[in-house]
Amino acid sequence: AIVLGIETSCDETAAAVVVRDDSGRGAILSNVVRSQFDEHAAFGGVVPELAARAHVEWLDHIIAQAVEEAGIALGDIDAVAATAGPGLIGGVLVGLTTGKALAAALDKTLIAVNHLEAHALTARLTDEVQFPYLMLLVSGGHSQFVLVRDVGDYERWGGTIDDALGEAFDKVAKLLSLGHPGGPAVERIAREGDPERFRFPRPLLREERLDFSFSGLKTAVRLKAEALAPLAEQDVADIAAGFQAAVTEIVATRSRQALARFRTEFPEAEPQLVVAGGVAANARIGAALRETAGAMGARLVVPPAALCTDNGAMVAWVGAERLALGVKDGLEVAARPRWPLDTPDMKVETDAA
Ligand code: ATP
Ligand code: MG
Ligand code: FE
Repeated sequence: AIVLGIETSCDETAAAVVVRDDSGRGAILSNVVRSQFDEHAAFGGVVPELAARAHVEWLDHIIAQAVEEAGIALGDIDAVAATAGPGLIGGVLVGLTTGKALAAALDKTLIAVNHLEAHALTARLTDEVQFPYLMLLVSGGHSQFVLVRDVGDYERWGGTIDDALGEAFDKVAKLLSLGHPGGPAVERIAREGDPERFRFPRPLLREERLDFSFSGLKTAVRLKAEALAPLAEQDVADIAAGFQAAVTEIVATRSRQALARFRTEFPEAEPQLVVAGGVAANARIGAALRETAGAMGARLVVPPAALCTDNGAMVAWVGAERLALGVKDGLEVAARPRWPLDTPDMKVETDAA
C-alpha cells in the first residue's frame, strides 16, 4: 500500500510518501520536512500560535512536494495518515483537518496517527524489527521506556517524573545561549568540552526504578553557569560536555535495567532496544547505548537521525502498518493534545487481520 503521511504536531511541517509491501517491508518514496527555525528563533522556544500559522501557510506546498518527489499522482495513494495528537493542538488541527479533507476528496482511507506510535514504529520501517521490543522514547516532550508488544499494544515501564530529556537539552542550550533547538547545539559544543571538569548530579540513579528526573540536573547546570558568569567559550563547552555525560550515564544505566527486565519477562524473545525520538539523534548517547546493549547481549536499533526527529515518513508508516491490519478512522476523529501510548483506544481490533 502507498500512504501519504502528514505531521504538524510541533514545529516541523512535514509530509511523506511511504510504501509497505505485503511482507511488511517499507520504503520511503519521499520525506519532506520544513522546520520552523526562523519563526521561533527570537523566542527561545516554540510559540504554539506561530507554529499553527506556519503549518497553515506551508502544509499544502509540503504535501505537493512530497507527492511530486515520490513520483506518484495524488490518486495513487491508498490512505492518508495524519498526526492526531499528542502535540500543540493548533498545529495538530491543521494537519488532521488537511488529512481529512484529502481523504474525503480522494475517497481514500483516513488513519489518525498517534505521534508517539509514529516514533515507536519507525524502527520497523528502517530495520527488520519484530515484536516484542523495548523502546526508549526520548523526545522533546517525552522520556519513557515502553514495551512494544504489537502495533497499538504498548505498556509503559517507566519514564520521567519531571522534564523530558529533549526539553532538558533545550533548556540547557537556552541558559548557555546556544539557541533553539538545543539538542544538536549542545552536542556540537560538547565535543570541544571536558566532560569531567564539572560533575553534575545523576538524579534517581541509585534507585532501582525505571524512572528519570532531569529537572534537578538542569538546575545544577544553571547554578554552575551563574557561578562562572561571564562564561568563556571553554566554560560553555565544559558545562555542555558535563551535562551530556550525566544524561548519557543516566540513560545507559536505566536502559541496562530495562533490558534486564525485558529478558526476564521474555526469555524466548531476542532482546531488542529501539531508541526513538529526537534525542536518539545524539551520537554520544547512541554510542553509550550500543555498549550497554552489547553488554546485555541485546540488539540496539537507532533509526537514522532524520527519522528520529519529527518527520512525515514515520506517520505514513504507522498509517501503512494500521492499514494492513484493517484499521480505518472516521472523519469525525478528534485532535488530541494529550494521548498516551498505553491507552486502550490505541489497540487494533484484529478480526480483519
Ligand atoms: P514529542 O515527540 O515528545 O511530541 P517533539 O516532537 O518536539 O516531542 P522530537 O522532534 O521527537 O520531539 O525531538 C525534538 C527534541 O530532540 C528536541 O528537544 C531536541 O533538542 C532534541 N534533539 C534533537 N537532536 C538532538 C541531539 N543531537 N542531541 C540531543 N537532543 C537532540
Ligand atoms: Mg521539532
Ligand atoms: Fe516527536
